Amino acid sequence: MRIRRLKDGGHRPAPMAKYLGGEAENDRRRAALNPIRALYHTQRWRELRWQVLLEAHFRCARCGRGHPTLTPACDALAPLGRLSSVKGKAPDHVADHITPHRGSEALFWDRSNLQCLCAACHNGAKQRAEQRDRPVPGDPGR
Ligand SMILES: [Zn+2]
Repeated sequence: MRIRRLKDGGHRPAPMAKYLGGEAENDRRRAALNPIRALYHTQRWRELRWQVLLEAHFRCARCGRGHPTLTPACDALAPLGRLSSVKGKAPDHVADHITPHRGSEALFWDRSNLQCLCAACHNGAKQRAEQRDRPVPGDPGR
């Protein structure tokens, strides 16, 4: 799928703009430059990410490391059919796109293309491998 063309023809903010506004402004600007980034801020993504992490019991698909509290909770509640009652934030866990979506919404939303990684694995070897392939400016991969 093609990335939608920016309405303003891809206008980039003036260099000084980076000194104006806070983190929200930075997020907005990055989203404008890379439209698929905005999908990471949707409720649909938050729910999909959580489903991926829950089903993996917050165990990293690479190193096997689990979350100290959420992994035991998942292990205990999943056999009772109560996995969905596990709550938390787990900012140190990532729903990772196995095949980099590279702006493809189909790959972005494909449940079978998502795996649970710990932040260390996600930010380490995998990111370096992707950057060797082709850098994706501003894409956090979350
Ligand atoms: Zn890991």
